[in-house]
Order: sequence, then C-alpha cells, then structure tokens
Amino acid sequence: MGGKTGIMGGTFDPIHYGHLLAAEESRRQLGLDRIVFVPTGKPPHKRNRLVTSVEDRYAMTLLAVAGVREFSVSRTEIDRKSPSHTVDTLREFIAQSARPCELFFITGLDALLDIETWADFMQLPTLCTLVTATRPGYSVAGLENLPDAVKRALKLVEIPQFAVSSTEIRARVRDGRGIRFLVPHLVELYIEHRGLYREPEVSQI
Ligand code: ATP
Ligand code: MG
Repeated sequence: MGGKTGIMGGTFDPIHYGHLLAAEESRRQLGLDRIVFVPTGKPPHKRNRLVTSVEDRYAMTLLAVAGVREFSVSRTEIDRKSPSHTVDTLREFIAQSARPCELFFITGLDALLDIETWADFMQLPTLCTLVTATRPGYSVAGLENLPDAVKRALKLVEIPQFAVSSTEIRARVRDGRGIRFLVPHLVELYIEHRGLYREPEVSQI
C-alpha cells in the first residue's frame, strides 16, 4: 500500500456525516489516495462515560463507508489490548506498508486543539502530516498557541460547517427525535435494529 493515506481516528459512537465530510474534503483538497477510518478501542479521552461496544461502533463505521471506493475501516485499535494511542497506530501503519506511504492524520479542530494531552504528541509531526478540519464552535485562533513543531506539520482544511456531533445524535435517539440525514441510512437502521442509545448515558466514574 503506497501513496498518500489519510487516517481518520474517532470513537464513532456513532459515525455521522460530519466525520464523512471531514474525511472526504481532506481527501479531495490534499489529493489523498485513500482514507482509513480507525475506530478507537478504549478511548483515553472518554473515560467519563460508557462507550458503545467496539463491535457495534465498528459495524456502523463499516456500514457508513460501504460502497465508497476510497474509504475503508481498520480494526487495529479495536484489536489492541492496551489503550488506543494515535502515535502507536501511525507507527503500525508505517511498519505495515510495503511501499513508501505518506500518512495524513485527520482530526476536527476540537480534537487537534487537545493534541498536547495525547501520548508522545511531539512524535506525531515526525510521523505524519496533521490535517485538521474546521468545526463549528472552534476557532482557528487557538492553533496559534500550539508548539511550533506541531504548527509546521499542520494543514488546515476548510470544510462546509456541519454542526453535528455523536453526542447530539445519541441525545436525539434517547429523546425520540429523528436522526435521518445526520447519519447514513444504513447506520440509522442499525441503531434502530440494535436499540442503541435509548437508555440514559451511564457514567463510569
Ligand atoms: P462526541 O460528541 O462523542 O465527542 P464527535 O462527533 O466529536 O463525538 P468523535 O468520534 O469524537 O465524534 O470525533 C472523531 C473525529 O471527527 C474528531 O477528530 C472530531 O474532531 C471530528 N469531527 C466530528 N464531528 C465533526 C464535524 N461535525 N465537523 C468536523 N469534524 C468533526
Ligand atoms: Mg468528539
């Protein structure tokens, strides 16, 4: 697997059109050959609530990219026993690629602004280009305060602003409000079929 690979990490609980739009616009604007979605196993940043089972999140991510030639889903973080760290995932992609492969790690602006809390974050600029998609509610002004090495590795991608989040989708399902056109149709059917997100969210701590 050579060429330019975009990696889009996330909890995807559930995956929604904001994720797909950020991935597609990054692919198109930066001329990436493919995008690999990497659902997290145990997200280090989301310890304060019980996350939906990895297999449900993986299944929804698969359904969301079904039929999109350039998009695929990786189980690497799901199958890892230890907590998911981006730096390990990137090293794994590099180790596994037979041909030289340029990596682009894609996040939304909110996630990138937190980068200094990620494990070994200063290693990230040596492994990949950091791509960040604009997201409603988060200002690009915050990027100024990031370390220079991070700023140098950064590519800002402006995308049509779509103010949807997984949190909002879960709340809508719980309250019986619709989620049509916020998530791909197959994801909507899966959520309904499996009865996901109907109960109030339980905190782990
Ligand atoms: P939650 O509300 O549970 O945090 P989320 O919608 O933020 O869910 P995540 O799985 O946390 O989804 O995010 C995965 C990645 O997608 C992050 O880098 C996040 O910034 C990005 N992202 C999510 N929604 C959008 C959006 N609407 N526009 C741009 N980027 C987004
Ligand atoms: Mg989030």
